[in-house]
Amino acid sequence: MSEKLILLTGASRGIGQAILHKLCQTKAGVIVATATGETGQKAIQEILDQHKTQGIALLWNALSQDSHIQLLETVKATFDRMPDVLINNAGITRDNLLLRMKPGEWNDVIQANLTAIFHLSQACTKGMIRKRWGRIINISSVVARIGNAGQANYAAAKAGVVGFSKSLAAEVASRNITVNCICPGFIETDMLNFMNEEQRKQVLQKIPMGRLGSASDIAHAVEFLMSQQSAYMTGTCLDINGGLVML
Ligand code: NAP
Repeated sequence: MSEKLILLTGASRGIGQAILHKLCQTKAGVIVATATGETGQKAIQEILDQHKTQGIALLWNALSQDSHIQLLETVKATFDRMPDVLINNAGITRDNLLLRMKPGEWNDVIQANLTAIFHLSQACTKGMIRKRWGRIINISSVVARIGNAGQANYAAAKAGVVGFSKSLAAEVASRNITVNCICPGFIETDMLNFMNEEQRKQVLQKIPMGRLGSASDIAHAVEFLMSQQSAYMTGTCLDINGGLVML
């Protein structure tokens, strides 16, 4: 895999940062990792330098179509090729009960969590088809499987990611390109900062393993889905949730 070009979104913190560490540790390839601001960009560059991994940190905003175009043009101009591996990890929440949900909260969540994946996947798939090899790994969520009160926008986007991935998987399977999702349960990152102690306790009671997941639990699965060991797996979802949901 050492010559592969990997595009990882949302690598500045949380699950994305754990995936970035894993990619560096396993010498998975040349890495293009995104952040929304200069602090995140710096954090990514430090990790690349720490592991002496070839790669760059680029600014990208999942809410902006111009930003998708700019990101992809920069990748092409810098490396003279498109990514062999695309890991769509960046995501946002704008939680609200449906009756109070503003159109902006709906649109931003669909845009960042689903539409951005459409744009990046479409651009990267073209090159993968030519090379007859590719890996697309999309980070969905347990809420795609079971829904969640207050997250109609997020659940719709994440369920959309699952349907999108299965459809694309069927389109490109014959070209040796796999497209899979990971559906994390509750993972200890900034995304869970909204929960108070009481809410945490309630969540933990529902998880048979009795703990929240760690970002590295997800990074291990990404490593597997990129590897030759998963070559015959496509259009599927890995549920990583400590037994919270057993499908
Ligand atoms: P996080 O700690 O909040 O990190 C979110 C990541 O997304 C950051 O790297 C952030 O980049 C990036 N991001 C946010 N807004 C963006 C935008 N507008 N454009 C581009 N990038 C943006 O969240 P996380 O828990 O690591 O989540 C990673 C993925 O896992 C997401 O898709 C999330 O939906 C999914 N997930 C998380 C959980 C969980 O319990 N944590 C559960 C299920 C699924 P900057 O820091 O540079 O802004």
